[in-house]
Amino acid sequence: MTFSKLIPTDRKMPELPEVESLRRYLIREGILGRTFEQIELETKPSPESGTGAISGINQVQGKSIKTLERRGKQLAAVLDQGVLGLHMGMTGQVNVLEPTEPTPRFTRALFNMSNGFRMALVDPRRWAQLRYFDSPDQAFAGLGPDALDPDFSATNFASVLKIRTAQIKPLLLNQSIIAGVGNIYADEALHRIEISPARRANKISNQKLESLLIAIRESLERALEFIKNHPDDRGRPYIVDAYDDRMQLHRKPGSFCPRCEIPLVTLKFGGRTAYYCSNCQK
Ligand SMILES: [Zn+2]
Repeated sequence: MTFSKLIPTDRKMPELPEVESLRRYLIREGILGRTFEQIELETKPSPESGTGAISGINQVQGKSIKTLERRGKQLAAVLDQGVLGLHMGMTGQVNVLEPTEPTPRFTRALFNMSNGFRMALVDPRRWAQLRYFDSPDQAFAGLGPDALDPDFSATNFASVLKIRTAQIKPLLLNQSIIAGVGNIYADEALHRIEISPARRANKISNQKLESLLIAIRESLERALEFIKNHPDDRGRPYIVDAYDDRMQLHRKPGSFCPRCEIPLVTLKFGGRTAYYCSNCQK
């Protein structure tokens, strides 16, 4: 897979749908119940924390994976003791390998697990994180409820936002309010409910705020479905970008509103570009 330099970074980062597809893929491949037998790490030194961190990995040795959970873009392999946290960063991917398959290029960690199960963290940019935590709470620290969490109701979501005076778009990207809404999905959802990304949250009706959560979920589910139907030739969920038919808004200059067919406009919020329709989104 090659990445074009012409594609802005907000289109090629693994977002919630890619990470959830990865979680489902690893479970489908049989990761649950496996024990970590031997772990080979890259020889290059990795930071202990922050971007690209690999830390505490010797603590997972000999432990088994009970469940694989996700909140936002953070994955947590819950072990019989402790948690292995995985974050894919910009270009990370975990591949389950065939028995004789050579270690892929850009592998940062190779996990040899019970009964010959092998998986590799492949990460060309070295921004993915692998960290040991004592508990899932620690692995998910700072993250609000997951966007797809059925226990997080539309009423809850509306009441959290209704008291905020900030503009809606940056609030949606605030992972401590709701985890897993990336730039592109926030734009999709706001377009669906016809609200401008610049509207202040407290100026949006409760009913619209509630439909916003539903719209976020519809956009994420549509992407999950798209990824499911477009695996790579090995049946793995591919992690590329959202510049394809999973989106209703085409994120490039000269694109049109799919509803009223006038050109979309852009607006920057803290370095993230919002695409929206100035006619139907108020
Ligand atoms: Zn429009």
